[in-house]
Amino acid sequence: MDFDFTPEQVELREAAIEFARGALNEGVYEADKEGRFSREKWRAAARFGLLGLPIPEEYGGAGSDLLTTVYAMEGLGYGCCDNGLLFSLNAHMWSAQVPLLRFGSDEQKQHYLPPMVAGDLIGVHAITEEGSGSDAFKVSCRARRIDDRYVLNGSKIFITNAPVADLLIVFATVNPEWGADGISAFLVDKGTPGFSVSSGFDKMGLRTAPIGEIFLDDCAVPVARRLGPEGAGVAIFNSSLDHERASILAANVGAMQRQLEKCVERAASWERFGKPIGKFQSISNKIADMKVRLETARLLLYKVAWLKTQGRRASMEAAMAKLYISECMVESSMQAISIFGGYGYMKEYEIERDLRDAIGGTIYSGTSDIQRLIIAKYLGL
Ligand SMILES: Cc1cc2nc3c(=O)[nH]c(=O)nc-3n(C[C@H](O)[C@H](O)[C@H](O)COP(=O)(O)OP(=O)(O)OC[C@H]3O[C@@H](n4cnc5c(N)ncnc54)[C@H](O)[C@@H]3O)c2cc1C
Repeated sequence: MDFDFTPEQVELREAAIEFARGALNEGVYEADKEGRFSREKWRAAARFGLLGLPIPEEYGGAGSDLLTTVYAMEGLGYGCCDNGLLFSLNAHMWSAQVPLLRFGSDEQKQHYLPPMVAGDLIGVHAITEEGSGSDAFKVSCRARRIDDRYVLNGSKIFITNAPVADLLIVFATVNPEWGADGISAFLVDKGTPGFSVSSGFDKMGLRTAPIGEIFLDDCAVPVARRLGPEGAGVAIFNSSLDHERASILAANVGAMQRQLEKCVERAASWERFGKPIGKFQSISNKIADMKVRLETARLLLYKVAWLKTQGRRASMEAAMAKLYISECMVESSMQAISIFGGYGYMKEYEIERDLRDAIGGTIYSGTSDIQRLIIAKYLGL
């Protein structure tokens, strides 16, 4: 067993940290307050090469393996304090670019991937509906085939990046009576007649990542814009979620490292009763627990990325990583607030934002309850 990364991987992670600190951290407090997304920062991340990390060179990417990519994403989360922006970028990478890469036709990949990697097209993945949520395959959005088109009708809710999206992967059923077998995925361009999007929701956290509702009203999509074969929606969704769960929280691991360092610094320098609060065991215990959470979360992240890099199945490991990292970040964020006392609770000190952002991680890509169900299923229950 070898826990070392190569010098090239370490260099890439260092570069990601430096880039994030220099280009992504300005004005985050205000942007969070206003719920404002930054297209400029998105483009800067694309110029840095972030969006292209897991995409082959022929489409403008770097063709990095998953382990290298998550290691770089972890560095980004360490350097960048805007968890919302990173979530938005991750949603685009894992739930829009990767399914296109894995299931798209040559023409679809040539058409969409280069501008997505370059930061010119923003992608989304839309499955959730008011009546489905955790019961993801209870899709009621309809796709009726008419000659060389599919006509889509329905709506999708809580779709990350929807208000700024250029391309949407929409899951719809060609026949509700076929259940999961009726679900197909479609590539819908912004501006297609019959497509519209709400202005967005006022979220608790991840406020710099836009989220909205989309509406499809007799929205005609050419057959050539179906992603994969008819009825392949569930396979595409499962593969995409598997990849997403394995990678989307890499930035949270980096954020936990950033958070831990802040807490150590605070505990070593903030005095009460004539000594640094870190000398009180109930404070140092919290910090020790944060460190254990960080390292165990990191091990799960690397393990699932390594398995996938080897081309091995890792669905249970992906669910474990998603569940564990997201819940660890909630727990550590609570402790960070506690260590900073009243200052931790005030938005200006930018400690409490991590908690608000972390809670989202226990809901998107399947709630913690659903991850536990998946893990239990793999154990035969
Ligand atoms: C920040 C954020 C970003 C998102 N981005 C996207 C996106 O880009 N695209 C997209 O399609 N969707 C997205 N979603 C939607 C997300 O996937 C759903 O919110 C999530 O799957 C839960 O569905 P729901 O909200 O309908 O909750 P429900 O399914 O109604 O669940 C309510 C509660 O019941 C529990 N529950 C449900 N079923 C079970 C069960 N079988 N066993 C035990 N407990 C259960 C849940 O865990 C939860 O606690 C996003 C959500 C958030 C918060």
